[in-house]
Amino acid sequence: MAECPHCNEQISHAQMFLLNFKIKKKCSYCGCRLYETKKSRNRQFFMIYFPLSFFIGILTAFGIPFGFVMLSFVACLLLLLLILPKFQSYSTEEEPWF
Ligand SMILES: [Zn+2]
Repeated sequence: MAECPHCNEQISHAQMFLLNFKIKKKCSYCGCRLYETKKSRNRQFFMIYFPLSFFIGILTAFGIPFGFVMLSFVACLLLLLLILPKFQSYSTEEEPWF
């Protein structure tokens, strides 16, 4: 579970899940803007999005029907949204992407 870098309150798993759907993420306790850390973004990319796209690529390479591939992709995305908060952390300032 992550904590707000401004007020140090613990952000619950459910609150972090909902934050994923917002463009401007704000702490529900103090209302301050939250920025995802570079480490958090990198962790998500290499542990979730990169393996997922690799998995989708393998499925299509073996001639599995496109409809089934897309259906499993959507199912994986929904599952990933549930575990995503475990890999996220926030900072007070926006960090560069690279
Ligand atoms: Zn806060």
